[in-house]
Amino acid sequence: MNTEPVATVDSLLKEAVTAIGGESPRLDAELLLAHASGLTRTGFRAWPEREVPAQASEHFRELVARRAQGQPVAYLLGEQEFWSLPLQVNETTLIPRPDTECLVEVALSLPLPEQASVLDLGTGTGAIALALASEQPNWRILASDRVAGAVELARRNSEALKLPVTVLESDWFSQIPRQRFDLIISNPPYIADNDHHLNEGDVRFEPSSALVSGADGLDDIRFLITQAPGWLADDGWLMLEHGYDQGAAVRALLVSDGWRTIETRQDYGGNDRLTLAQKPLGLSGQEAAHAE
Ligand code: GLN
Repeated sequence: MNTEPVATVDSLLKEAVTAIGGESPRLDAELLLAHASGLTRTGFRAWPEREVPAQASEHFRELVARRAQGQPVAYLLGEQEFWSLPLQVNETTLIPRPDTECLVEVALSLPLPEQASVLDLGTGTGAIALALASEQPNWRILASDRVAGAVELARRNSEALKLPVTVLESDWFSQIPRQRFDLIISNPPYIADNDHHLNEGDVRFEPSSALVSGADGLDDIRFLITQAPGWLADDGWLMLEHGYDQGAAVRALLVSDGWRTIETRQDYGGNDRLTLAQKPLGLSGQEAAHAE
């Protein structure tokens, strides 16, 4: 016979808060218990003495143990909200960050054609592309990722949310069908490979392919800035997310390649987070060769 004391909402949450520690143990515990039990967080407050069935409390304790090891809550829930869209997430790719919503906001404010064609490079979960699709049903949105698992995930999110985004497996531009976009948008990897942040918090569990980009974190951004003109309409825009301390470096790269209307914008925390620019005037030699 099972002689374990009956677990209640309150007892489980208390036990989890101690085990989890860190910055937001109560919130983490509530999210995990809601996920494991099917009960709501408001329900926890209304009825703390409520008994939790053995199977649910066992599942909850497993999740708490993984959280205590540092696993991101989003991976444990299998879901993260972005732009109010519930996105499925998994270890193949980055967990969407709230600050990336700033790219969506700025993209929606650009003077783009009614039926703009948009490319989201390194889409991961599909977050940026799907958020744009949810706001602009007339845009033609293509999203790509180099990682097959991320492509599959982005497609699943597109289907689950019934938002029409085409997702292709492609290492940056390599498999993109030749065309001219009105907007190329990307949250590329941009962390320097020796950055100590990589050993802290959620990023420890995220794939480095989505995070790390060479000695100064700018390898992929440099590549995108060089290649993008060949894929943009004459007045097309490039918008890149980058690190809080990379704004000046990204602007300098754009300036030296002749880009126009270069501007860095801040995230919700007031840090430089994205830079946008309009395609340089005239075909560069490199683009002419590339366009053949
Ligand atoms: N903003 C993320 C972080 O600081 C990094 C995202 C990225 O490299 N694209 O963890």
